Amino acid sequence: MSTKNGFFGLGIMGSRMAMNILRADLGISVYNRTEDKIKPLTGAGAGVAASVADLAQQSDVFMTMLTGPQAIKEQAISETGFLDNLRPGATWIDFSTVNPGFTQEMAAEAKRRNIRFVDAPVAGSSLPAEKGELVIFAGGSENDLKDIEPLFNAIGRKTVYLGETGKGTAMKMVVNLILANAMVSFAEGVNLGKSLGLDYETIAGALIGGPVTAPFLSAKNEKIASGNYSAEFPLKHMLKDLFLATLEGYHHNTPLPQTSATRELFALAVKQGLGDLDFSAVYKLLE
Ligand code: NAP
Repeated sequence: MSTKNGFFGLGIMGSRMAMNILRADLGISVYNRTEDKIKPLTGAGAGVAASVADLAQQSDVFMTMLTGPQAIKEQAISETGFLDNLRPGATWIDFSTVNPGFTQEMAAEAKRRNIRFVDAPVAGSSLPAEKGELVIFAGGSENDLKDIEPLFNAIGRKTVYLGETGKGTAMKMVVNLILANAMVSFAEGVNLGKSLGLDYETIAGALIGGPVTAPFLSAKNEKIASGNYSAEFPLKHMLKDLFLATLEGYHHNTPLPQTSATRELFALAVKQGLGDLDFSAVYKLLE
C-alpha cells in the first residue's frame, strides 16, 4: 500500500513544494485556508481535503508550511486541529520556520499522541522552491528521516541532518539572522556611498560577486535596481524570524546586539507598510 501524503499551507513556498511532490509521482492531497490557492494543485492532479482535520485523517505523512508558531499552534491543537486527527504512527513534518523552543513544544504534543515528528525548515526562496532546489535542515530521529527521504528529494537538492528534534529549526534561526543582518549592512553601505557622491550602479557593480558581499545579494540587487520588490520572502516573515531568534537568544543567555537592532529596523519597515514586500525592501527604509 502506498504512503498517503498530505500538505497543509499553500503559500509562496508550500504551493511550489507540494507541486514538486506531485511531479515526483509521490501522490499528494492538499489543503489551504484560502481556497483559491488550492486550485493550481488540484488542477495538476493533487487530491483535495474538505478541511485540515479531513486531510490529517487521510495522511500517513502530514506536512505543514505555515507562517509561524501562532498559525501552527492554532491549527494543530483543538478538536478540529490536525494533531488529534492524525492516526498514531503517522508522521508530521513541519517545514515552517519557527524557533527550536516551539519545535520542542510541538514535538512533545505529537509524542503524546504517538505521532512521529520531524522539523525540516528550508533554505532558499520561491525560485529554488519552484525548481526543487531547496536545502532542508532536518532534525529528528534518523529512522523517521529515512522513511521520508523521497519527499525531501522531491523538494530539495540537499538535506542537512542536524541531529535531534529542534536542531533543524536551530540552524534555520542562524541562517535567517545572517541573511537579515547582511541585507541591512548592504543597504547602509550603499546609502553611505550615495551620500559620498557614488551612484547605486557603481557601488553595486563594485560589490556584487566580489568577496565582501554575500551571493544572495546579486538577486536582491536586481530588486533594488528595478524598484520591484515583489515578495520572494516577505519582509513581515523576516521580522517574525528576527523576533524568534532574539527570543531564543534571551532564553539561552546569548546577547544578539546587532540582530536586535536589525529586528527593530524590520519592525519599523512593517509599520511603514513594507511588510508584504520582499525583505530586501528594508533598503527603502534607509534610502
Ligand atoms: P506565505 O506565502 O505567507 O504563506 C503562509 C501560509 O500559511 C499560507 O498557506 C497561509 O494560508 C497559511 N496560514 C497563515 N496563517 C494561518 C492560519 N492562522 N491558519 C491557517 N493557515 C494559515 O508564506 P511563505 O513565504 O510560503 O512562508 C511559509 C513559511 O516558510 C514561513 O515560516 C516562512 O518563514 C518560511 N520560509 C519562507 C521562505 C520564502 O522565501 N518565502 C523561505 C524559507 C522559509 P492563507 O493562504 O489562507 O493565508
